[in-house]
Amino acid sequence: MKYISTRGNAPAKTFTEILLGGLAPDGGLYLPEQYPQVTREELDAWRNLSYADLAFAVLSKFANDIPEADLKAIVSKTYTAEVYSNGRTDSDAKQITPLRKLSEGVYIQELSNGPTLAFKDMAMQLLGNLFEYALAKDHAELNILGATSGDTGSAAEYAMRGKRGIRVFMLSPNGKMSSFQRAQMYSLQDPNIYNIAVNGMFDDAQDMVKAVSNDHAYKAAHKIGTVNSINWGRVSAQVVYYFKGYFAATKSNDEQVAFSVPSGNFGNICAGHIARMMGLPIGQLILATNENDVLDEFFRTGVYRPRGTDHTYETSSPSMDISKASNFERFVFDLVGRDGAKVREFWNKVDAGGSFDIKDSAYWNELSKFGIVSGKSTHLNRLNTIREVWEEYGVMIDTHTADGLKVGLEQRRPSLPLICLETALPAKFAETIQEALGRQPERPESMVGIEDLPQRCEVMDADVVKLKAFISANVPH
Ligand SMILES: *Cc1c(COP(=O)(O)O)cnc(C)c1O
Repeated sequence: MKYISTRGNAPAKTFTEILLGGLAPDGGLYLPEQYPQVTREELDAWRNLSYADLAFAVLSKFANDIPEADLKAIVSKTYTAEVYSNGRTDSDAKQITPLRKLSEGVYIQELSNGPTLAFKDMAMQLLGNLFEYALAKDHAELNILGATSGDTGSAAEYAMRGKRGIRVFMLSPNGKMSSFQRAQMYSLQDPNIYNIAVNGMFDDAQDMVKAVSNDHAYKAAHKIGTVNSINWGRVSAQVVYYFKGYFAATKSNDEQVAFSVPSGNFGNICAGHIARMMGLPIGQLILATNENDVLDEFFRTGVYRPRGTDHTYETSSPSMDISKASNFERFVFDLVGRDGAKVREFWNKVDAGGSFDIKDSAYWNELSKFGIVSGKSTHLNRLNTIREVWEEYGVMIDTHTADGLKVGLEQRRPSLPLICLETALPAKFAETIQEALGRQPERPESMVGIEDLPQRCEVMDADVVKLKAFISANVPH
């Protein structure tokens, strides 16, 4: 299995070769040369596998340059009930991503039982183990540099903590995260985790990361890498839970299902698209956005028009406050029949701050073949959905999952079972839960009182020179 760039001008590479990198050299994103296909016999054989065994079955189709025994060991170590139960001991916890039935044919697939209570743990934990394995083979080191407004940074830190050969330098806006998010990140005492609280906004932190990444000599000398949502390892790990959810909601492989996916960077739903292309019987993929609706606009009108960061709304489902969907290019590559020149043409416009429009082209007709429909959800919709689910089913859902459920119920074909992907636990978004329900969210046992733990972080002005000096001082070279 080789991987090619969506812009068509980069050499093909293996899974391990792209694992530690980011963009392809031509500015595109990597995808398999061809999607591996899953036969009916395989689907039948996979139906009753444990999550770890299913993950091995799916991932061995993508990572076939890793020896099978090694991949099996990495996957088994990653997907254990200890890591994904948050102290729960019921039989559901062993499922890793259990389905919770709300009503006949409507389910929530729990993806947030990992250490940071968000679905990003599902992929990031695997990445941590894959990175450690790949680096140990080459006696190499990697210094992960990133900026976070909360979720991604904590998922990365919990995945990389204590890993040999890896350090994490994570920038966050000083005083702008919730006390819970701060506690989650800054209470980590592992010597390979460096939290840097930047005096400024998230965008200032992001700009510092970009400035360091653009200094190619510094980046190479200090072995700087990233774990952002375009990382292929992350996308491929997410393909697995679509299979798991499908098997849990159906009795036979003749049935179809719909998935609804709270979306921002198009990473999660891209994995669903890939599962479908592999042959998983997904009838509908329902994309839900919040008030930041670039993706909904595309699927409704054919126009992809990213907004600038100064036109991004701050919403109560903040992990979807994204106006440029970094994985969307992967889907468009498939949409245009894998024509790298066409993708280059579209993204030349996007990268210059513009937009592209497929409404009057043959691609608009092609779009319906991919089974994706979309909708959006607002603060008021979110509050109402959280309230309804609490009152009717006694289930508390978070703000992002509420967006997914609202749009899912609106857009589903009623003949299909609907599986709504849960992307975070309500404990992470206490303020909005309080507003919706007049009470505080439940918190997993392991997270009670984390605000009282000692915290460790470096406070820094938004100054690239200082950031480089800090990294240099902590990276022996
Ligand atoms: C990251 C995130 C999303 C969006 O996922 P994408 O892969 O970026 O589309 C949705 N909800 C939560 C809670 C997240 O952390």
